[in-house]
Amino acid sequence: MSLSIDNLSFRYGPGGQGVEDISLQAAQGELLAVIGPSGSGKSTLLRIVAGLIEQQAGRVVLAGRDLTGVPVHRRDIGVVFQSYALFPHLSVRDNVAYGLKMREMPLGERRAAADRMLHTVGLAEFAERSPTQLSGGQQQRVALARALAFGPKALLLDEPLAALDAAIRGHLRDEVRQLQRQFGATTLLVTHDQEEALTMADRVAVLDAGRLLQFDSPEALYERPANSRVARFVGHSTLLPATVHAQGQIDVGFALLHADTGTRAVGAKAIAMLRPERLVVDPPAGQANRIAGATTFTRYLGSIVRYDFTPQGATTTLLGEAAVAPAAAVAVKPEHIRLLDA
Ligand code: ADP
Ligand code: MG
Repeated sequence: MSLSIDNLSFRYGPGGQGVEDISLQAAQGELLAVIGPSGSGKSTLLRIVAGLIEQQAGRVVLAGRDLTGVPVHRRDIGVVFQSYALFPHLSVRDNVAYGLKMREMPLGERRAAADRMLHTVGLAEFAERSPTQLSGGQQQRVALARALAFGPKALLLDEPLAALDAAIRGHLRDEVRQLQRQFGATTLLVTHDQEEALTMADRVAVLDAGRLLQFDSPEALYERPANSRVARFVGHSTLLPATVHAQGQIDVGFALLHADTGTRAVGAKAIAMLRPERLVVDPPAGQANRIAGATTFTRYLGSIVRYDFTPQGATTTLLGEAAVAPAAAVAVKPEHIRLLDA
């Protein structure tokens, strides 16, 4: 493994918050996203890997080297924060060359290297400017160029796109991904934006209250969340309190539905997860798990509508996504109902 985070724990003072027993591994060149609600410990984890704070237990190993006690500037790690943290008194070129100066590269060489990096991120013509004269998106590209310029083994990105508006964010996502691949830098991307994580990452770690809930591929996380907290955080879904009614059948209050109940006993409580795109719109009478009712709310999203469907006699709604909202019924295939621990 290129980057191995082993049983890492850190607390801000006695009884304080932090992270608890986190283990993650990334192969060379992989992009690993760390997601979780605000305060879940994402930045703390990143700060430990960067060397800005020291863990109280566990270790970080980068390319076979235990980083415990190694100072920030000797870790071979490039870092980009949400606030670009560029030096306003230095030119764009000198900002990018900064890490090379710290590593004692001669002036001519580091200027040439900085210019090559600026060319790569499409900012060659801004080399002489002050970073204060650039847009947010451009500043973040400079920060990325600066972080990659010295050829780090790992790249740490803490909410690098959070301060940008939506259109630029989408564009920069692709750009960050391409640059990270091009440089083969093993990358830890911290974000509270689960869509950003799912679209960019090879694997995703979900943190909550300092603990790791799940570490998986984006597909696995979406299709097979470890529990309802992960399901709530990753993608849209309907989560219904359910009771196992019989082997292969659950009671969700307004209906009995066929579902894989696995090893759960009759009477056991669970949460049934339904992903919106799995709802079948206006199925023929007699289809398994057909639920009669009505669409009670719709949101137009361009190519699809996202709708709330209220089953007959129910107070809960089911969230669906389709080309057109259902008129009178939905259905969900038994294999598309996932039971999670309550
Ligand atoms: P995230 O980046 O996921 O929003 P952080 O890693 O910044 O979360 O914070 C995790 C927890 O640690 C939070 O409860 C936060 O309030 C607390 N915390 C963060 N920094 C400090 C600090 N310097 N001193 C004390 N507590 C802190
Ligand atoms: Mg943070």
